[in-house]
Order: sequence, then C-alpha cells, then structure tokens
Amino acid sequence: MDCLFCKIIKGEIPSKCVYEDEKVYAFHDINPQAPVHVLVIPKRHLGSADEVCEGENAAAVSAVFCAIPKIAEKLELGDGYRVITNVGENGCQSVKHLHFHLLGGAKLPENMGI
Ligand code: 5GP
Ligand code: ZN
Repeated sequence: MDCLFCKIIKGEIPSKCVYEDEKVYAFHDINPQAPVHVLVIPKRHLGSADEVCEGENAAAVSAVFCAIPKIAEKLELGDGYRVITNVGENGCQSVKHLHFHLLGGAKLPENMGI
C-alpha cells in the first residue's frame, strides 16, 4: 500500500519521533500550525475516523488516546492542548491514514480549524 504515514512508521521516510509504543507512533508535523504540532497515529493502517471501529480497529484508536496524555506530559502541555482529526474531502484530510493533530504550546484560537 502506498501510504505516506505507513512509510514513516517503517522508517522509510524520516520523521522526528516524539513517542512510540507497540500500537502508536507520534512525530512532529512537517508544517506546524502551533508552537507544538505533533501527529499521533495508530501503527495499524486505518483510512480515517470514519472507518468501522471494532476489534483491532477500536484497540488501535484506544491506544492513541492512551498515548496522548503521555505525549502531552512529555511535551510540557500541562496548560492544555487540542486534538483534531480531519475526515474526507470536506474535512480537508490530505493523508489517508488516520491521524490526530495534537496542538499546543500557546493559547489557541477559540474557533481554530486546521
Ligand atoms: P491532514 O490535512 O490530512 O489532516 O493532515 C496531514 C498533516 O500531515 C499535515 O498537517 C501535514 O503538514 C503533515 N504532513 C504531510 N506530509 C508530511 C511528512 O512527510 N512528514 C511530516 N512530519 N508531516 C507531514
Ligand atoms: Zn497507512
């Protein structure tokens, strides 16, 4: 499968890793939209949050949300942060591997999209 984020997980494309475990990989976004902008992704390939969430898919998403507070602590985001996932064309999803934008490091705009 020709998936950019699967290649990043495998190390075929370089990335700045901030966290990794058995099910999750997190790395700095190449085009940051906030002082801290990290992408948190399941190692299991899922196209988006719109995919059926059961069994191993559900476990993959759950692992992402278990990892997020650990990543936030590591990046000193104790004052808060934002988690966003874009889905499909109207959501302006450009990479078709489920990913969660973790944004912080400053007070974010109340109505910020990405
Ligand atoms: P989306 O628009 O699909 O929600 O978000 C995709 C994100 O992936 C964008 O914020 C974009 O900057 C980031 N991105 C795209 N290609 C690369 C890459 O090769 N490396 C990294 N670190 N981020 C990427
Ligand atoms: Zn993938």
